[in-house]
Amino acid sequence: MEDIAPELLEKIKKDFEKKLEKSETIKAFREKVKKKTATYKDANDFAIEAGELLTDAFQSNLSKEILPDGKMYYNIADRIIRERLEHNYDITAEAAVEVQKILNEKAGIGIKAIKPEMNEDRVRGIINIVSGGKYEDVAYILGEAVVNFTQSVIDAAVKENADFHSKAGLRPKIRRTSTGKCCEWCDRLTGIYDYEAVSDTGNDVFRRHKHCRCIVEYDAGDGKVTNVHTKKTTDKKDTKRRIENAKEWSNKQKSGKIKETPKEKEKRNQRGKRAGSCFENIRTPKNVRCIHSKRSIPCTTECGI
Ligand SMILES: [Zn+2]
Repeated sequence: MEDIAPELLEKIKKDFEKKLEKSETIKAFREKVKKKTATYKDANDFAIEAGELLTDAFQSNLSKEILPDGKMYYNIADRIIRERLEHNYDITAEAAVEVQKILNEKAGIGIKAIKPEMNEDRVRGIINIVSGGKYEDVAYILGEAVVNFTQSVIDAAVKENADFHSKAGLRPKIRRTSTGKCCEWCDRLTGIYDYEAVSDTGNDVFRRHKHCRCIVEYDAGDGKVTNVHTKKTTDKKDTKRRIENAKEWSNKQKSGKIKETPKEKEKRNQRGKRAGSCFENIRTPKNVRCIHSKRSIPCTTECGI
């Protein structure tokens, strides 16, 4: 049987590059980098755009007619999808580095910006999910998975740079903002967190469900270096129950304890798939709390803080 992978890969590459070059979002990002005004919000927009353009390129060039037996065999996915995901990782990680450089400079932090590592498990996970089955059944999974994967590169950059700064004695903060159109779980996670309080692996602040477009940003804090051996831990004591609250809420939702008014139900239905699908990926949040400071983004009334 003829090996179609190399030719297909080439087509997808060209298609993607063409789309990327024309993209207003990408152009705007590059302009902001030049002017040194780019932020992690812009990097997040870059990631969403790169993810969507790659999805488009896959959809325009892959079909059941083109693929042998109408299936995405593993050996094809492993060469085409992997190569493209790695490329998306690469350009998005570079975009994050550009933003981090700007932020470091503005905060007067004389250390280099860290390029996040690629999450190989996620790449493998996507390849495994789309492999073997009929392409028409998995095409839609590929779409959102690609966008979500690309966004996660930015989230990883935020985390890795904050981690690096924290180890250097700085007090970085993590700011999570919701688009307001995501879901209640996300609304409840919004706020400014002391990085140290959310630094554990898999912390909810750095997680996103399918179709989540929330923004996770690095904040240099006061930019001052503290003595890592003597610094106080009062922040931890002061932190509020934001994440526990999100967990409680999600558990109540699952057990049906939260009764919706008809108006709320209508609102949720309008959110359609997005709201419905978000609970699938919510795992048990870790024991992490939000810092409630004057700089915090005001939370919703339901959250009770
Ligand atoms: Zn969200």
